[in-house]
Amino acid sequence: GEMIALPDIDPSLLKLEPTSSPKIRPPSSTLIFGRTFTDHMLTIRWSSNSGWQAPVIGPYRPLELDPSSTVLHYAFTAFEGMKAYRNEDGTVRLFRPDMNMARLNRSAARAALPTFDPKALETLIKKLVMLDSEWIPNEPGYSLYIRPTLIGTQNALGVGPNSDALLFVICSPVGPYYASGYKPVQLLATKKYVRAWPGGTGSHKLGVNYGPGIVPQSEAAKEGYSQNLWLFGEDDALTEVGTMNLFVAFKKPDGGVELATPPLGDLVLPGVTRDSVLALARGHIKGEKIPGLPDNLTVTERKVVMGELEEAEKNGTLSEVFGTGTAAVISVVDRIGYNGRDITIPTGPRGLGPIAESLLSRVTDIQTGKIEHEWSIVA
Ligand code: PMP
Repeated sequence: GEMIALPDIDPSLLKLEPTSSPKIRPPSSTLIFGRTFTDHMLTIRWSSNSGWQAPVIGPYRPLELDPSSTVLHYAFTAFEGMKAYRNEDGTVRLFRPDMNMARLNRSAARAALPTFDPKALETLIKKLVMLDSEWIPNEPGYSLYIRPTLIGTQNALGVGPNSDALLFVICSPVGPYYASGYKPVQLLATKKYVRAWPGGTGSHKLGVNYGPGIVPQSEAAKEGYSQNLWLFGEDDALTEVGTMNLFVAFKKPDGGVELATPPLGDLVLPGVTRDSVLALARGHIKGEKIPGLPDNLTVTERKVVMGELEEAEKNGTLSEVFGTGTAAVISVVDRIGYNGRDITIPTGPRGLGPIAESLLSRVTDIQTGKIEHEWSIVA
């Protein structure tokens, strides 16, 4: 028969149902990450018969799910994490939202969930953020964490592609990650558990990748480490740090510095912050100088193994290790437990090395609009 395209997400069909009972906003200083939610949420239903239905922005409220919903049994859930920032002049900005939309589509496709027009969802997220914009605290360093989520809602236990899905977006005002000064983290290089493997789902932002990370994290915490350093393979290749991408800076014999990060592929989530840090560092090399970055810098996406870190520690050439992610932007590592001993990384008197410090301030300045940049999108 004839192929009829199903309707995609259409922002012009938006039904706006503002809350009649706005919540009391808690004082910014009392915010704990991801505990407080704004007044409204966006929901868009999908079915394999009729495609994406009219988007609704209505009061934040519990979902009603049939107990047979596939998300509750087979973990059909893909999600994103992004932020809206308020500029000093009051402008609200998103940071590279196109990257989050593209990643959600990639995750959806991997989990047999429906894909969508990325621009349409971005438009609707801007509408939601502006409707709840008074929830973005005015204090510097605060922002609005945005959580788009896509779940399978087919009411049937058969394991197969979803006939029904629900896309929803909720928002949570959050404080600065380092409210009380910069604090390096300690990692336990984990061999007992594997986060991602060739042919697996680790490079997609799917719920299935996160729940199983809690036991390893608790075990690391019992040994005095804050997060896991996820390794892969016989040669203990570094992949990621907790839920962040990983960067290592090595001093080179010629006096230069190499900033290395594991390559994308099945073992690593393609982080927006990772991509941004790479682009800024490469821009610096090409002449768009970033204050604080070394002149003689090289940037590599390559396999890094634990043996190299041990060797570099011995030679005094291990200069910085840090994670990158939306929550903290940059999280510096000062100690890695590996094979029963600790590798220590110098972090300087302010708790972060020069590369981490200059990239952190450059990314933050772009996010908040202090520096105009094409990545920073006015909502
Ligand atoms: N790795 C994992 C496993 C993550 O969950 C995240 C957070 N999305 C990241 C890396 C960092 O990605 P981003 O910079 O896009 O926040």
